[in-house]
Amino acid sequence: MGDGHRVREDAGSDGLRRMQEEDTDGARAARRDEAVRAAVDQGLLGPDSPLVGLLDVTGIRESAARLKAAFTEVTPPGTPVLHAFAVKATPLVPVLRLLAEEGIGAEVASPGELALARAAGVPAACTVLDSPAKTTAELREALALGIAVNADSPQELARIDSLVGSSVPRSPLGIRVNPQVGGGSIGATSTATATSKFGVALRDEGARAWVVQAYLDRPWLTRLHAHTGSQGIPLDLLARGVAETYALAEEINERAGRRQIDTLDIGGGLPVNFAGEETTPTYGQYARLLAEAVPGLFDGRYGLVTEFGRSLMAKQGTLLTRVEYTKSAGGRPVAVTHAGVQVATRTVYAPQAWPLRLAAYDAKGRPKTGPEVVQDIAGPACFAGDLLAEARALAPLEPGDVVAALDTGAYYFAHHYAYNSLPRPAVYGYTPDGRGGVAFATVREPQTVAEIVAEAGGAHAAALTALHAPERPGA
Ligand SMILES: *Cc1c(COP(=O)(O)O)cnc(C)c1O
Repeated sequence: MGDGHRVREDAGSDGLRRMQEEDTDGARAARRDEAVRAAVDQGLLGPDSPLVGLLDVTGIRESAARLKAAFTEVTPPGTPVLHAFAVKATPLVPVLRLLAEEGIGAEVASPGELALARAAGVPAACTVLDSPAKTTAELREALALGIAVNADSPQELARIDSLVGSSVPRSPLGIRVNPQVGGGSIGATSTATATSKFGVALRDEGARAWVVQAYLDRPWLTRLHAHTGSQGIPLDLLARGVAETYALAEEINERAGRRQIDTLDIGGGLPVNFAGEETTPTYGQYARLLAEAVPGLFDGRYGLVTEFGRSLMAKQGTLLTRVEYTKSAGGRPVAVTHAGVQVATRTVYAPQAWPLRLAAYDAKGRPKTGPEVVQDIAGPACFAGDLLAEARALAPLEPGDVVAALDTGAYYFAHHYAYNSLPRPAVYGYTPDGRGGVAFATVREPQTVAEIVAEAGGAHAAALTALHAPERPGA
């Protein structure tokens, strides 16, 4: 059956696909504008709640559907494919539940993330545990639940050995390798460099032979995992990482004389276009590139696991903030807002690597037009670098206006950083209500000041003053 689906393709279907994708992007932008207006109208954003996160429920469903369709298109019918959403990208239980309803599982990397996936009802069979620092207790829990585990290192595999003992584990188990194919444009998200902390570094002396032997010694190791990196990794480098991993699986299976490795976990890492509305690259483009670069992986002999995070969710999220004040400094207009380092941590600390698109709306939530002015959009935190954008051309902002930070559905407002004890904002999901309006649902309540005090040791206020050193005789 192998190649039939690719032969059917022609230039015309590519053009059609592109047009459909542009329609989807345009519709998403229109829904977002409606949601901003409705969030102001309905009082979700206002003087007493000057910062909220919004999630496009329709967009999330579409994104999941596109991911599934892309891999269905390049695999023979019946190929087991699990798309496990990287929970760290958007660690919100209702999001995980929505994705689960769309047939997407969960990739977790801590006890907290596993608990979120379980709270969302993600089945154990659709959950994968990765992480370079799993404790014995975590491993034991995962094995008891039958959750897939990828061992990150020889030491971790030895721990798994002792937990498995002489039994046959219920969990699908594998080893994470680092194909060391190199890094992308952002060092911090490049996981396949020569010295990356993740996986078994395949090109190091003796490492490949060790991995092969580890499989031959353990008939229950049936998966092989690699995740070449996140944002900033070019597609051809991602594909090379997958190709290297596939070659290793083939070598191991040949040595074993059987199809011991039955599933490849190819990680996530599809980059997101933060520069414009267009979804590019698409899951379809990536899946077709992989099928071309590594055809043997798509001929039905292997099951697949993917672990996409950012590409599923980034474009489905919008951070909305009110302009509290405006001022001018050194001739530069500055709009002081409530969205800064606490919700856009990477952008504030590494603005060159993580620029965000911003959109301006008036106090009623209507898109603000008019000649643009170069201005700084500042956050509320008490350090000079707390800027959402520096010297950005936007319609002139006034107090009460609304600024939207776009494409923030992954690794932004869901990743609170508690600088200045700023509260975690509320998160709402939205969808057209079918009567020309917008319906919202609470995904996460805003953090209260009382909760901030409690989390800051409020119950232990006298803990340190009451802690006296024993008195020394004669002192
Ligand atoms: C972060 C991570 C992912 C997801 O990466 P994205 O760039 O968000 O797609 C997948 N797998 C592993 C092991 C990760 O650490």
